[in-house]
Amino acid sequence: MRRTLYCGLLREEHIGKTVVLEGWVNRRRDLGGLIFIDLRDREGLVQVVVGPECPCFAEADRLRSEWVVRVEGKVRARPSAQVNRRIETGAVEVEATHLEVLAEAKTPPFPIDAGWRGEEEPHVSEDVRLKHRVVDLRRRKLHHNLRLRHKVVAAIYRFLDQEGFLSIETPYLTRSTPEGARDFLVPSRLEPGHFYALPQSPQLFKQMLMVAGYDRYFQIARCFRDEDLRADRQPDFTQLDLEMSFVSQEDILKLNERLAAYVLHEALGVEVALPFPRLSYAEAMNRYGSDKPDLRFGLELQEVTEVFKGGTFRAFANAETVKALVVPQPLSRKEIEGLEAIAKTKGAAGLAWARMENGILSGGIARFIPPSLLEKVAVSEGQTLLFVAGPWRKTVESLGAVRLELGRKLGLIQPGFRFLWVVDFPLLEWDEENQRWTYMHHPFTSPNLEDLPLLETQPEQVRAYAYDFVLNGSEIGGGSIRIHRRDLQERVFALLGIGAEEAQEKFGFLLEALAYGAPPHGGIAWGLDRFVAHLAGEESIREVIAFPKNKEGKEPLTGAPAPVEEAQLAVLGLALREK
Ligand code: ASP
Repeated sequence: MRRTLYCGLLREEHIGKTVVLEGWVNRRRDLGGLIFIDLRDREGLVQVVVGPECPCFAEADRLRSEWVVRVEGKVRARPSAQVNRRIETGAVEVEATHLEVLAEAKTPPFPIDAGWRGEEEPHVSEDVRLKHRVVDLRRRKLHHNLRLRHKVVAAIYRFLDQEGFLSIETPYLTRSTPEGARDFLVPSRLEPGHFYALPQSPQLFKQMLMVAGYDRYFQIARCFRDEDLRADRQPDFTQLDLEMSFVSQEDILKLNERLAAYVLHEALGVEVALPFPRLSYAEAMNRYGSDKPDLRFGLELQEVTEVFKGGTFRAFANAETVKALVVPQPLSRKEIEGLEAIAKTKGAAGLAWARMENGILSGGIARFIPPSLLEKVAVSEGQTLLFVAGPWRKTVESLGAVRLELGRKLGLIQPGFRFLWVVDFPLLEWDEENQRWTYMHHPFTSPNLEDLPLLETQPEQVRAYAYDFVLNGSEIGGGSIRIHRRDLQERVFALLGIGAEEAQEKFGFLLEALAYGAPPHGGIAWGLDRFVAHLAGEESIREVIAFPKNKEGKEPLTGAPAPVEEAQLAVLGLALREK
């Protein structure tokens, strides 16, 4: 007996046929001398009926949830009153003639059957789910998510293949590739005291592939970053990494937005309009208070610095920046306090407010507001004005955080997929802690050539050919045009405080490659986990990764990371230090 088709694929067209099915018992019920088995495989479930006349009745009577069985039987129509519209096989059932238990199963640690019946699943804590990930992965939602992920990856391969990209693998055991995180190190046994670094990205290898003339490269690459824990980060994660030669920034953006549109069409049947908006970093920050603005709702920040400049309200009169939000409804004191707490997490000194009541501004700082404000900002009856004043970045970012919270709280967020490009990032960022310039993207990003004369004199003014790909308020990708001339790369290293010797020691191989004639090139990497999570409508990337780490960076299923034997360390020339 061999399986003839998947349980979940049985339809009315199979009525009258004899089938062999194999799968898991989703649920077993006894009803008036009949045994009903919901038999499940990855495609769904189908109802199997075992009558008392079946020689397999006693065996069927033993079945429990999650046992693995093989069933032979005849497909028949269900009586119309029993048709189950919640499942795709609901018009038919299988009358069993043979049944064989292939494996018994322990009672699962939590029930997983409801989703497959089209019903809501009970809540199970994530720790328990990850500990029992194999059982958890049987749930319908995870089957759906991993299949969606596969469709996305398959579509990416099809599209990029058609566009002339070559998929090329780069090493996992390699040297440090800086992307701003710490490296995971792997000790070498053959050369004790020496270490490989796991790649934070394939950045340097893809650039070297361009120098080597491969012209268009991509890879679905695992990357490793030993970062401080954040709720939705994985120490190992997946990028769609790509690089192109002899292109401008605009060529790269165009190709990637066509790719995104193709993937949404193929994986979800959703159409998105091209081109995606392009906002400069400065505009994104000024209008939305974020370099990854969520365009699913408006509520833009209003520029009101000039209105208060030189006025009597000290706190605002001298501020570098004053920004306002017009909230379309009244807010209570308590709500404003809650929003102020959010603004303060981003460095705001406070959140000022006023309300339009009976045609005049009242409450909060109303008496300090010059009348000219209402010429700049339209405020209607019942609306609330919120203000933050202070240094530009802190001001826009804190009001941006308030904007996001209001978008959620007031239900302003429209469904759908809103992509955009954020371009013209600054090349450098001032690192307060270490009192030096540091790179905003990575040290191989090309300055905008128009700004080159400012590189040493006004580094903060220099824009980069760098861009972020944003979807629904999260950064799903980022890339840049690279420096392809050795002299410029050395100049940028110098600016970053990477001296000639250090540059040679760490990136000599790249400098050497650039010296052999490098084409102008650039690329991007997408965070594949996050992209798929958006498509699946999931908040957490752990819902689209088969075996994720938990929020503490651990893998509860296998127990990684785990201590190792001293002997294992000894062959690596390592020993643990006494604490
Ligand atoms: N390597 C960069 C990153 O992982 C992306 C790129 O510039 O292509 O963020």
